[in-house]
Amino acid sequence: MAGKIIIISAPSGCGKSTIINAILAEGKIDMQFSVSATNRVPRSGETHGVNYYFLSDDEFRKAIAEDAFVEYEEVYQGRFYGTLKSEVQRICDAGHNVVLDIDVKGGVNVKRLYGDNALSIFIMPPSIEELRRRLEGRATDAPEVIDERVGKAEYEISFAKDYDCQVINDDLATAIDETRRIISDFVN
Ligand code: 5GP
Repeated sequence: MAGKIIIISAPSGCGKSTIINAILAEGKIDMQFSVSATNRVPRSGETHGVNYYFLSDDEFRKAIAEDAFVEYEEVYQGRFYGTLKSEVQRICDAGHNVVLDIDVKGGVNVKRLYGDNALSIFIMPPSIEELRRRLEGRATDAPEVIDERVGKAEYEISFAKDYDCQVINDDLATAIDETRRIISDFVN
């Protein structure tokens, strides 16, 4: 059945986007990515309307006032991210399942909202030390941002037990296979 919600959360640097993009690119599962809105600045290579809808602080505030979000969170200080009702609606109306890449608080809230029509998956790093190595290797963030993200990861992992399933990304190909199988069992 289409119109199901797949929630995927993970600490930054756990390979979540890579896993989601790999499964989307294969096209074996009928699901589309819900593009979130954020007021953070784009990283190099990111495109408005593809990775996020990049909004100004004022535009984000206006969207909140207009009740445009299913949920939104201040994931980092001053940096807001939100799932747009219009995105979820558009994808469901077109008869597809929806995949949400959202933080732990948003993930828990959306699962509560959609109940059995949603499946929540938490992607885990093999360890905190390995996560730090991966973030440093990615080299897209300044050292203080990496420190902030590692600290946050420990907090986020404490929510893993509230998710329907947990996948450890030790080996990427295995993690993709496992995530695909979990999603496929849920939507088919
Ligand atoms: P990044 O800045 O690395 O793209 O994302 C930071 C965090 O924001 C990630 O954990 C990501 O899952 C989360 N995020 C992205 N979009 C949303 C959203 O719409 N809602 C919530 N609650 N979190 C989001």
